[in-house]
Amino acid sequence: MTPGKLIVKVGTSTLTAGTQRLNRRRMLSIAQQIVDVREKGTEVILVTSGAIAAGRERMGREQVGRVNGAKSLPAKQMLAAVGQAHLMLAWEQVFGMFDAQVGQVLLTRADLSDRRRYLNARDALNAILAWRVVPIVNENDAVATEEIRVGDNDTLSALVANVVNADLLLILSDIAGLYTADPRQDPSATLIREVAQIDDTLWAMAGASRSGLGVGGMSTKLRAAELATRSGTVMIIADGARPNVIVDAVAGVSVGTRFAATSTKLESRKRWILSERASGSVIVDEGAAGAVRSGRSLLPVGVREVHGEFDRGEAVLVKDPRGHTIAQGITRYNAAEAALLIGRQSSEIETVLGYESAPMLIHADDMVVIASLPSARDNERN
Ligand code: GLU
Repeated sequence: MTPGKLIVKVGTSTLTAGTQRLNRRRMLSIAQQIVDVREKGTEVILVTSGAIAAGRERMGREQVGRVNGAKSLPAKQMLAAVGQAHLMLAWEQVFGMFDAQVGQVLLTRADLSDRRRYLNARDALNAILAWRVVPIVNENDAVATEEIRVGDNDTLSALVANVVNADLLLILSDIAGLYTADPRQDPSATLIREVAQIDDTLWAMAGASRSGLGVGGMSTKLRAAELATRSGTVMIIADGARPNVIVDAVAGVSVGTRFAATSTKLESRKRWILSERASGSVIVDEGAAGAVRSGRSLLPVGVREVHGEFDRGEAVLVKDPRGHTIAQGITRYNAAEAALLIGRQSSEIETVLGYESAPMLIHADDMVVIASLPSARDNERN
């Protein structure tokens, strides 16, 4: 099945083709393949490394070498700031060859873990995709210090896959996949094509392999695979230099190592939503209760009462007019805002609140229906 949403992660060693400079030819091929698969109906988000490498290229090695503490965090922040612009320019140029627009999204850990900001990141990425622009994501290295950074783009790409509910995460590296031993040291090492479950043997095989310029080794890739597959995303590690690697991976051709999803996307979202403790509730009218039961979003027009204190991004219970819980969902507005929106049309949200972050109170994708049919007790009372 063709994936609906694909994340392509490109590591520094792939971007530079093992040199100290960005390799435009390699970037051109990646852009072309992304545009190709997009034309066949797959939405693609590109997670790119290489900001710091591009910064070194732009500043010149001699100049960087003269900076005091060239390896210190401030020097890296400076290199990331210079390099990120340079990196984006290069991506914009290569995508431009195929008339494709790109948009830059720089994230830190908080954007992906804090509930409210998580929704912001998801909305931003989805909006960019909806405009047929290719989102190009990197960590915001210029401001991300140790405590607030994800640290490696393997993990970052798995978190992004999680945020947008991606079907496939393709990690392009300078190695063809996961081997039974380090192929650079052990000639008997063989490529593992398919991984059903990540276990201790696999961790041992991943060892401590590292590539020259990038941050991640095989162990950050395995950790990313754990994160991705648990939330229903298939992950593939493949050689970024292999011709047509993206096109083939999307078409289901075996490239590199494929990690099967260990849960479905739906199961994992449900688990996540239900694991949040509800901090409030809303009582809805019969019409809205019916819509929610049949898997549709909850609009403010159907809300009758708002109870409790909750913030945007928190879990709330949805109750029918008799007070029976029918669903739990993640709210797009806080309790005070939700109270102001009672009975209002979605088109009035902006007038009432002064802004609109979503046309619904709870999006269908963020809701788990707990009782899909009116319960027997409800019927008795009717
Ligand atoms: N964000 C870093 C950069 O752009 C790369 C991190 C990684 O390669 O994992 O330079």
